[in-house]
Amino acid sequence: MSSAKGVAFVTGAAQGIGRSIALRLAADGFDVAVNDITAKSAELDTLVDEIKQKGRKSSKHAGDVSNDETVRKMIEAVVGEHGRLDVMVANAGIAGPFGKKLIEVSAEQFDRVMQVNTRSMFLCYKYAGLQMIKQGGGGRIIGACSVTGKKAMQTQAAYSASKFAVRGLTQAAALELGEHGITVNAYAPGAIDTPMLRGTATSQEESDAMTEMFKKMSPLGMLGTPEDIASLASFLASKESHFITGQTISSNGGIFFD
Ligand code: NAD
Repeated sequence: MSSAKGVAFVTGAAQGIGRSIALRLAADGFDVAVNDITAKSAELDTLVDEIKQKGRKSSKHAGDVSNDETVRKMIEAVVGEHGRLDVMVANAGIAGPFGKKLIEVSAEQFDRVMQVNTRSMFLCYKYAGLQMIKQGGGGRIIGACSVTGKKAMQTQAAYSASKFAVRGLTQAAALELGEHGITVNAYAPGAIDTPMLRGTATSQEESDAMTEMFKKMSPLGMLGTPEDIASLASFLASKESHFITGQTISSNGGIFFD
């Protein structure tokens, strides 16, 4: 096994974009620790094996990223296992109560989306930042935003608010962590073909109609794949991206222009 480029930790890695990012960072030469909820422990075990097959070290850290103590302890455990943390990818997120207008969304539903999509980013940024400052040598912090974090869409009030907040956190963290050589950026995917996107449809017909709608919105006539986002995360995690910070970078097939 060649020596690692560094140690990365990816949250929400059991499926979709997070899984793809974890595998891509392993292919790039990072040792990769992975997280998801405990109910997806088996999927994480499979992923850990796949990362090891690429010749890299890996470890599983199941837990809820919206919980303060859990995130603090997980990052402590990643460092305990791998010695340091160079790249934090705060990817985990949930879809909002899609299909519901703002006037139909309950306060509890709103809070839940904010907890998982925004509070978790704050916690991951905070504890990864603390560790990177402590160990020295800079670092890369990367968060999951969305096209709806740049332009709200119908029936996505809570989700959109949670992702707008990710941009604010990313800018604030970039301002404060820059002096330590730590960059903080986010990716803003458009429609990416993942379980989350498919899960927002209630039938095959609705899913097909949604695919067609997103294709029509894109000048390229396509949906994205998890690998499309993984390639962006790979660049943001690299040394070459050192002059980019505080940015939320769109990868959306042109369905929205900044
Ligand atoms: P996904 O639902 O396929 O995967 C997300 C993973 O996060 C799941 O495995 C889930 O179990 C995990 N997760 C959820 N809550 C968690 C928690 N509290 N603690 C730990 N893990 C948790 O979603 P995806 O499409 O791969 O999306 C990944 C990220 O990209 C999300 O933040 C999402 O909001 C964002 N995003 C996705 C799309 C898209 O079209 N798929 C578009 C824009 C943004």
